[in-house]
Amino acid sequence: MKKTLSTAMLAATLLLSTPWQPESAHAAGAYTAKVYASSLNVRSEPAASASVTGSLKSGALVTVTDEQHGWLKVRAGSVSGWVAGYYLKRTSGTAEAASGTAAGAASVKTSSPSSGSAGGTAQVTASSLRIRGGPGTGYKVLGSLKEGDSVKILLRQGDWARIRTASGETGWVAGQYIARGGSSTGSTWSSGSSPRTGSIRGKLIVIDPGHGGSDPGMLGTSYDTMEKDLTLQTAFYVRDYLRAKGARVELTRTRGDQKPSLSRRVQIGQQLRADAFVSIHYNSSPKKVSGTLTFFYSENNDLRLARSIENRLRQGIGLKSNGLSFGDYHILRENSLPATLVELGFLSNRTDESIVRTASYQKKAAKAIAEGLADYFD
Ligand SMILES: [Zn+2]
Repeated sequence: MKKTLSTAMLAATLLLSTPWQPESAHAAGAYTAKVYASSLNVRSEPAASASVTGSLKSGALVTVTDEQHGWLKVRAGSVSGWVAGYYLKRTSGTAEAASGTAAGAASVKTSSPSSGSAGGTAQVTASSLRIRGGPGTGYKVLGSLKEGDSVKILLRQGDWARIRTASGETGWVAGQYIARGGSSTGSTWSSGSSPRTGSIRGKLIVIDPGHGGSDPGMLGTSYDTMEKDLTLQTAFYVRDYLRAKGARVELTRTRGDQKPSLSRRVQIGQQLRADAFVSIHYNSSPKKVSGTLTFFYSENNDLRLARSIENRLRQGIGLKSNGLSFGDYHILRENSLPATLVELGFLSNRTDESIVRTASYQKKAAKAIAEGLADYFD
């Protein structure tokens, strides 16, 4: 998103945006949505396998209070629980967005962060500015800045900026309250601190096929494709391509009936002292969106890896790349390894689903991931 966008356009973008970063589970502020299914099951947990606790009729209005992997936590009268997000359409912005602060969207569609003038210095223009853990008002407040404070802009995402303070803390602030061109604090910011070692040969890569066992992940809306199957098949292809390049590969699961916990998946990489960690997922959204998304959490630890892979994904695997995005996922956040999470298409989109369920697509995506990893170690 270019920073020349008017505030009105930004506000409109925010109001129209619906959560489409799965698993982030931190929707910022409640909003109202309408049911677009003749009968929609409400479940106890954000999973298709969870028990049904109620149902909603077409046209029902619900309050959405949380999001997790394409599932939305809703409340309507005495009914509350989780529903598949693609059967809901948002009818209102958050209270904050509606009142004009334009900062309350659950998640913001990103364009390429590289267009966001990262690396520059800016000064705080608000008398007090909160630093948050992520790009939205739903994220935890980590600290605050005063007017005139100088910050380094690490990344822009939507109308949020990831910044580093003079004292070295990092976090997110609303981009409208910082202005470029402030005096430089002279602080040094280096991107991608991971050492460059020359070759992927001999490197140990952990590939994490998302979901598994009783957790099918997202379900395709047209062909009933299960995300957990696609992630495993794709991971096997990634393993083949990586081994052909001389890398060593471990998978966090190798069977359809396995469901390692998120912390266990992270632990596998740590215990093996692996060189990189890639989590594979397929996406879902109530919006008509298509293509891939590549997530990072730490700009020091993850961004260069994510960028290397996204560069390859965008070179034509059959679906467009939606670029890089900050993602507050356990698997990235709790991971000390360079880690990235890729969403390789939308199972809520009929065209995407028909493409991603083919072996030829999965191989192209896997090859791009392997080549991106090779670029990373080059
Ligand atoms: Zn997933």
